[in-house]
Amino acid sequence: MADLLTLSTDVIDGRIELAQAGPLNRITHEFSELNARVGMVEAFSHSIVFRTDAGLVAFDTSNEHGGERCVNAIRQWDKAPFHSIIFTHGHIDHVGGCGAFIDDNHATQVVAHENVARRFERYRLTNGYNHVINERQFGQFRRRGYDLAGQAQFLPTSTPEPDITYSHRHSLKVGDTHFELHHAKGETDDHTWAWIPSERAICAGDFFIWAFPMRVIPKKPNATQGSGPLHCERWPPWTPSSSYPHTVSPLPVKSEFNRCSMTWPTHSSHWFSKHWR
Ligand SMILES: [Zn+2]
Repeated sequence: MADLLTLSTDVIDGRIELAQAGPLNRITHEFSELNARVGMVEAFSHSIVFRTDAGLVAFDTSNEHGGERCVNAIRQWDKAPFHSIIFTHGHIDHVGGCGAFIDDNHATQVVAHENVARRFERYRLTNGYNHVINERQFGQFRRRGYDLAGQAQFLPTSTPEPDITYSHRHSLKVGDTHFELHHAKGETDDHTWAWIPSERAICAGDFFIWAFPMRVIPKKPNATQGSGPLHCERWPPWTPSSSYPHTVSPLPVKSEFNRCSMTWPTHSSHWFSKHWR
């Protein structure tokens, strides 16, 4: 079990070089506990899991290739049933593994922004096209034996439609834990980021990727939406203690986030310096 928060801090503080740390977007399918109630499976993309007294809540499920491995890794930590799955957005590396989670508990409910269902419909209508354009961006993974797309269909047939959708904000209470879901246009038009007050944590989805914002993906229709990751400006006027992006290591405290923000455009940094002292 890796100490991911320490790893992130050491990289950002320069205590270890990137070459020494290795890839920060690792696909190990290993579970690491972030605190007693929160854990994460490093996958493509990560699955972030919260313990509640009504069962587990998972943000994202990796892709078809990784879903079962994520479930198996989580089961080393907790045997409680999955109460809810929240899709941060509809990209296949976040939703494609959901079939394995549903197989584990058929009563699991899936929550997502309303545009996720529209994305799924578009994926089914343009199945072959999506295989072709995805090959341009992620063919390197397929050639190494790790195809992000589903085996039969680009969107795996086992991926369920969301049971609960919302437009702007949604308050989800699972047992003793509140999850405040917010919609914003970023990398996609169907994105959710979440504030979990009891953990003082943000689940960031792909709003934060430890790299320059992905502004353009050739031939992909929703790659550039609104002001992209700058919607982090709207992140809460509360003080998060942790942020859990879904394609890189988690960030432990506000200072790390603040420093990372300095590589973003000026007004984003201005917001952070104004609100996160
Ligand atoms: Zn994405």
